[in-house]
Amino acid sequence: MQFSSYEDLRSRLLSRTITCEEVVRFYLERIESHRSDNIYITVFHERALERAKALDRKLREGGSPGKLFGMPMAIKDNIAIKGEGLTCASKILEQYESVYNATSVLRLEEEDAVFLGKTNMDEFAMGSSNENSAFGNVPNPFDKTRVPGGSSGGSAAAVASGLAMVALGSDTGGSVRQPAGFCNIVGLKPTYGRISRYGLVAFASSFDQIGVLAGNCDDAALVLSVMAGKDGRDATSSSHAVADYASEMASVSVEGLKIGVPKEYFPESLNRDVSGMVNAKLAELRDQGAELVPVTLPDSEYAIAAYYILVTAEASSNLARFDGARYGYRSEKSEDLAAMYVNSRSEGFGREVKRRIMLGTYVLSAGYYDTYYKKAQQVRRLFQDRYREALEKVDVIAGPTSPFPPFGLGDKTDDPLEMYLADVFTVPASIVGMPAVSVPLGFDSLHLPVGMHLICNFFEEGKMLGIARHIHRSL
Ligand code: GLN
Repeated sequence: MQFSSYEDLRSRLLSRTITCEEVVRFYLERIESHRSDNIYITVFHERALERAKALDRKLREGGSPGKLFGMPMAIKDNIAIKGEGLTCASKILEQYESVYNATSVLRLEEEDAVFLGKTNMDEFAMGSSNENSAFGNVPNPFDKTRVPGGSSGGSAAAVASGLAMVALGSDTGGSVRQPAGFCNIVGLKPTYGRISRYGLVAFASSFDQIGVLAGNCDDAALVLSVMAGKDGRDATSSSHAVADYASEMASVSVEGLKIGVPKEYFPESLNRDVSGMVNAKLAELRDQGAELVPVTLPDSEYAIAAYYILVTAEASSNLARFDGARYGYRSEKSEDLAAMYVNSRSEGFGREVKRRIMLGTYVLSAGYYDTYYKKAQQVRRLFQDRYREALEKVDVIAGPTSPFPPFGLGDKTDDPLEMYLADVFTVPASIVGMPAVSVPLGFDSLHLPVGMHLICNFFEEGKMLGIARHIHRSL
């Protein structure tokens, strides 16, 4: 059972060539046969089948099919589905069951999507390799000795391995785009505020966005259109009108398109295959009538420095709620309340999460606030100004998604700073809040996936996906 896109699946469902139940059974069997890849934390065997049967019944009885009728989806395990686990791949939430639905989940269900289960990830979405999961790592679908990227590694691997048609991830500094790049799929991070964060477990609230991992740009645009829009439950969600993405995509033309190429995205240290492939694609676009415009942006390494101050500060505050009293894991061996807090958090959180809580507490502490936190906020503003200026002159900023192809399992686990550099090209869009996407460019000399990264101005998801689709189709 192969589908080239959701449109393909949909036409077969609506013409009754196949049923939702058959599709869901097919996916559930595939998930079972890939169990050893550890891609799903929870599989909704019964829930998904019941849902599929209900959808089949609806169609038989003449009900009108929703926009995502029968779409088999995977959800990252930091997005709430009522009555299901919500582990964030952490021991501290291992036993927790969600008591409500994320707004995105409700909107997808209203349009008749089917959820297959919850996917593996780096603990609390902190990481770039999925190796920080309390439930074990996930191999890259194209080379099992390598990582799938992170933190939405399970969601990316699920789509790339055909264990879901589309998956939700979350992106704080690159967690949808970088794993999409590592797994040869499309990964979209919308404008900050485009999709409600209600029901997404907070890591760094001023950066977090739900994003979409899909096999192609049309599927990503469709799912975005369903989730996008103001939500009364998230004050930071935007009331900017939701565009008609399909028609915006269709009106994109490469002829005359101004593509900003920042030299900062092509440093000396860039992997040669990656730079070769990205440059070849840019040359191809130029030959098709696009104009390549050199743009100057602040050095992305400063984005990484500012990012790790700001997100750890926000994380230290957001994760204070996991104290052994209100949610999840409580240490058994504590004699008094203070010890209960300390022991529950020490035993429940993994190393990277603890490192970030300590770092965040430090940068927010009275004596260091101005030196670190305030300075990082100023850097954030500077990036925002420079990116806005650049995008007044060009339609899109292009570069590689990652400075290197998927790396080996364990290669960077002992060196957090090396790991942080995996996001050097994705973090700036998160700092400024603009939409960005990773689109597959094909495979390097070792047959590893390479992705291209595009950034557009606020709320220009339609144009950006149109450009990305052009690139993807010309593979
Ligand atoms: N890898 C980055 C980090 O560890 C990004 C994570 C994310 O986007 N959730 O913070």
